[in-house]
Amino acid sequence: ILIPSLGLVLAFWFYSARDTFKPEMLRGKRVIVTGASTGIGEQMAYHLARMGAHVLLTARTEARLRNVVQRCLELGAASARFVSGTMEDTAFAQHVVREAQASLGGLDMLILNHVGASYFGFFDGDVEHVRKLLEINFLSYVAMTTSALPMLKESEGSIVVVSSMAGKVGFPFTVPYSATKFALDGFFSSLRQEFAIQSINVSITLCILGFIDTERAVRAAAEVLLERPAPRDECALEILKGAALRRRELYYRYSSTRLPLLLRDCAAELLDYLVRSRYRLPATPGG
Ligand code: NDP
Repeated sequence: ILIPSLGLVLAFWFYSARDTFKPEMLRGKRVIVTGASTGIGEQMAYHLARMGAHVLLTARTEARLRNVVQRCLELGAASARFVSGTMEDTAFAQHVVREAQASLGGLDMLILNHVGASYFGFFDGDVEHVRKLLEINFLSYVAMTTSALPMLKESEGSIVVVSSMAGKVGFPFTVPYSATKFALDGFFSSLRQEFAIQSINVSITLCILGFIDTERAVRAAAEVLLERPAPRDECALEILKGAALRRRELYYRYSSTRLPLLLRDCAAELLDYLVRSRYRLPATPGG
């Protein structure tokens, strides 16, 4: 009895130790954060700065990035810099990665977080908008990953992909956005399999987020969603913990993401219904 019990205790201890996040894990790490001028990306930059990481931030708005970089330096970042530009342009996505090589001499973590503007409402049939959003929310993620891979292989680093519940289950009113987030799951989950086959020690953490209190999300959905948004600074920290622990997927918050998703394979229609029931729905003609 004693030996199996001891085995269990040791296994539990090993599992807990493996699971423990320490801010030192990110000290001195060279990290790119995209979409870092506002919202969750901005908060991740501040957490990384407090942990003593080197941060390279990007988004379009130079004035905001300048302020975020300044704050990161005040908070204790090992170094902080930015590159501004649009992720509609694949060449820009690749340029950001080259900048990490030039200024940081390598890369430990690539955090793909930016998101292009879209509408919140019934699908309007605008195919060009879907194409543009795929370029910003999906293709630029692919381009940055491809360019960063040699550096990440060398550092045995991490890729962090910020996605959404809308990238795991059909959501109304965000059809183009959901399509781009589903695409990320397909690409990065398949890539993870190939890394395993090729023994490439680069982790991929797919982050499945619920409703978070960023300005953009609250402006778009607070009136319609019957749910309180979760705080963006806590969300940002949970993403970094998941990334440092090289988690396969990260769910935040668990109760509004992982738990409902348990229904997906056994009761998909019930899950669809539960998703719709979270909305204050507009009256439809004849409905
Ligand atoms: P924000 O709108 O607050 O931030 C988006 C960031 O992306 C900004 O820094 C913005 O900066 C940048 N960005 C927008 N367009 C472009 C572009 N064309 N090229 C380069 N950068 C661009 O978003 P959130 O913080 O709310 O979201 C962050 C991530 O979390 C996203 O991937 C989102 O899908 C995901 N998420 C968020 C949820 C929420 O409720 N907030 C829920 C689920 C997932 P700038 O305008 O200066 O370019």
